[in-house]
Parts: sequence; structure tokens; C-alpha cells
Amino acid sequence: MTQSLMHYDFHSHTYYSDGVLSPCDLVDRARSENLQLLAISDHDSISGLMEAKQYLKQQTITDLKLINAVELSVQTDFGEIHMVGLNIDPFNTELLKVIELQQQKRLERLSVYEEKFNRINIFGIEQATLDLSTQVVTRSHLARALVLMNLVKDNQQAFKKYIGKKGRIKVATNWVAMEQAILAIHGAGGLAILAHPTRYPMSNRRLTYLIEEFSLAGGDALEVAYPSLSPDKKAWLLQLRQKHDLLVSGGSDFHYPDLKWTDLGRFPRIDSNIPHVIDIINNKLKV
Ligand code: AMP
Ligand code: MN
Ligand code: MN
Ligand code: MN
Repeated sequence: MTQSLMHYDFHSHTYYSDGVLSPCDLVDRARSENLQLLAISDHDSISGLMEAKQYLKQQTITDLKLINAVELSVQTDFGEIHMVGLNIDPFNTELLKVIELQQQKRLERLSVYEEKFNRINIFGIEQATLDLSTQVVTRSHLARALVLMNLVKDNQQAFKKYIGKKGRIKVATNWVAMEQAILAIHGAGGLAILAHPTRYPMSNRRLTYLIEEFSLAGGDALEVAYPSLSPDKKAWLLQLRQKHDLLVSGGSDFHYPDLKWTDLGRFPRIDSNIPHVIDIINNKLKV
């Protein structure tokens, strides 16, 4: 079956990172949306997908296939980016080492946030954030903690005022480097996908260079279908993918059930004549 006929979503989150649904609830939601293929791609974690796999086994669910994935935070010359490793072996030791290190870096980053918030007389953010996290500590948890502490009215304001690109508190993190991330994903038999390319705070020119570097480093695919992407930008990304002979992927980047425009499975279709990661995955899975 070609990708245009399949219902899939190759980018989603559970509460093991900054999603709000449990893996079981995410699976239930995917089935109610009639998805056939779902990649759970938590930030620096595979725990959600492992739990979801157990659930499929226990409930003998056969109408939905899970694709093992992870969304790594990655350091590049152009700033921080996100890379989805798709169809990875979740038992690969090298990849698991990278994931563990990333989780550790997130805890260290949180301590630095505490120190920096202390300097502006805000105390206890570290513990409040840990209390809200299941496993991977993200800035979304920090934002929720700031809301609970009545310092901001919602997550958006937390990013704007404190922890976003232009916020008061900046903490740099030394994430895994791009080449290393691609090697780890390939070593685990997966495809390296540049997630939501237009969401990074960089100019089109820099993004063009980033995509070139990504391709030279062995990257496999670009996400060219996700909720906030305009048709113009999509066309532009498709030109770049052609230039560098990359595959394409798509996903909703689902985090919350109450945001309709980023609901599971909800993103524009991609023309079926464009080489898609799904073709490779289907061959490996023998769907
Ligand atoms: P982290 O990987 O811990 O730095 O957290 C990044 C996560 O925060 C992203 O995956 C988004 O889910 C979320 N995020 C980033 N920027 C914003 C924003 N401006 N408003 C709301 N959520 C955001
Ligand atoms: Mn997120
Ligand atoms: Mn992301
Ligand atoms: Mn994501």
C-alpha cells in the first residue's frame, strides 16, 4: 500500500516526555482516529513506546502498528534542532547510551534553571518541575510549574516571559551532536529525520545550510507535513529535499488532546510520488 492510502502519524508524544496522555491512551486515540501506523517519538525516551507495545500485545491489537521512534534534541552549528529516529531498534546499546545521557543533561539543566531563577528570587522551580515529570524533564514541565506557582497565566506566557528563546532565563545545553545522533540512529537501524524544520528560530538562509549539513552528515529525511507548516513553506522544503535527495515524513507532533489543530493524525497529506520514509518502513515491516 502506498503512503497516500495509509493513515499514519510519525511524530507523537506521551507523558514519558511532554505529552499528556499515557501510552495506552495514545494508542486508543490513534485507533479511534483510524490510524494504521503510529510512531511514538518521545523526547529522549523510548519508555512510552515500550509500554504501548506491551499494551498492544496484552490487548491483542492488530489494527494498529507501532513504529519505534525517539525525538532527540541535537546540537548543531546552527543551534538546537530536533531529530526523529524512526524505526529504531529500542534495544540498541549505543542509542540507549545516548538517550540516557540526554536525560541526565536534562536533569543538570533543571538544576541550572533553579540557580538562575533563584537569582531573580524565584525558589522551588526544580522540585515543582520534577513533581510534574514522569521521566524526561522538558521545558514544557518547567512552564507548567511556573503556571502552578502563579508566576504566569499559561504555558505560552511561561515561554515568552521566562524560558523561551527571548525569555529572561537562558540555559544552554550540550546536546548530542548532529553527526553522533545520526550515527546512533543508523547504528540502531533507524532513519534520521529532521523534525519540523521551519519551527527553529533561524532564517531561511541558515535553514538551507542546516539542511545541507544534515544531508552531508547522512541524514535521511525531512518532515514536510506538520500542522503549522504553510503550503508555501512546504513547497520550499520539498525543493530542498529534492536537491539533497532526501526522503519525506509527516506527523502531528501530538502533545495535548485539547489542541484540535495538532490532533493525532492531523497534518496535510504528501503527494504519493515523493519518496517517503513509509516506503522503506513498509518494506522492512512487510505490511
Ligand atoms: P525542551 O526539549 O525541554 O527544551 O522542551 C522543548 C519543548 O517545549 C518542545 O518540544 C515543545 O513541546 C515545547 N515548546 C517549545 N517552545 C514552546 C512555546 N513557545 N510554547 C509552548 N511550548 C513550547
Ligand atoms: Mn515537546
Ligand atoms: Mn520537536
Ligand atoms: Mn515533538
